[in-house]
Amino acid sequence: MSDSALRGCDEPLQVSFDVALLDLDGVVYRGDHAVPHAPTALAEAREGGMLMMFVTNNASRTPDVVARHLTDLGMPTGPEEVTTAAQAAARMVAESADQDTRVLAIGGEGLRQALRAEGLTLVDTADDEPTVVVQGLEKSLSWTDLAEATYAILAGASHVATNLDSTLPTDRGLALGNGSLVAAVVHATGVQPRAAGKPQPEIFQQAASRAGARHPIVVGDRLDTDLAGARAAGYPGLHVLTGVDGPAELLRARRAERPSYLGTDLRALKVAHPAPQRGEGGRWTCRDAVAQVQDQTVLVRRGDSEIDLDAGAELTLDELRAACAAAWAASDEAGVSTVLPAPGGTVVVASD
Ligand SMILES: [Mg+2]
Repeated sequence: MSDSALRGCDEPLQVSFDVALLDLDGVVYRGDHAVPHAPTALAEAREGGMLMMFVTNNASRTPDVVARHLTDLGMPTGPEEVTTAAQAAARMVAESADQDTRVLAIGGEGLRQALRAEGLTLVDTADDEPTVVVQGLEKSLSWTDLAEATYAILAGASHVATNLDSTLPTDRGLALGNGSLVAAVVHATGVQPRAAGKPQPEIFQQAASRAGARHPIVVGDRLDTDLAGARAAGYPGLHVLTGVDGPAELLRARRAERPSYLGTDLRALKVAHPAPQRGEGGRWTCRDAVAQVQDQTVLVRRGDSEIDLDAGAELTLDELRAACAAAWAASDEAGVSTVLPAPGGTVVVASD
């Protein structure tokens, strides 16, 4: 195979793709601050005709609240430009619902609103004989709520989770995500839930359909959710380096979560992207950049010297593209998820 997962795009991405399906945290904002360059880049992409759809696994906030937060941070957004995992779960339930479907919602107002918007009948307790339990994160959930879900599922209701994120980043570190509370219920019932949020493809497919997309592109900062979901949905993914996963994770990316394009930040939307090319002797090039894998490490050639990425390095984006293409090809040829050992030194990409 001579191709890399990394593709080329001769035009700016915002010209080639009609809708951007954007992750929030680590892509457009971090907490109460916009990610550098995000407001300008999104405004310019919109002016060029690209539509925005923000896609979030957060099931407790309504699209209204998300849109207002983005607007407050200098990125004017309407609620119709937000797709939450609660909406994706509600649509999933509605698609197989009939007149007898009764839903017990274990979660916050965002979840209840999404279920009502699909015209579903909500009930309050397991005693009302729900046919489906839909579970989304709400920080005030208690034993009583999880017990209600358990009673209903053991009585025969199916179990749908908005998403299965094990953790949730907070100011004080990682806390329990929805998947961990779902796991508590599953531990009691033995019934495996269906899930709608990332990395499942449904949330992206629904978001694309609501935006009327013909050629959508997913934009994310996490390989195991955003980029894996993009691959599952069959959409190209742009990975930006402003969030969770950096060059070390990219070099070790499994086939099912490799992005199609790389960018330092959202300014990557307004430029063309070069494709890495396979050269002689296992070398990969990307414009002037050259990289190859030798003895389980990636070497980047710069002039007459070779930089061993295991020792840490500051790369250009083209060097990272060539290095990823080399690392992924060597891993595929060896039939393993990655040939590289755990990261040694820190690899960063110089930002301009
Ligand atoms: Mg993110």
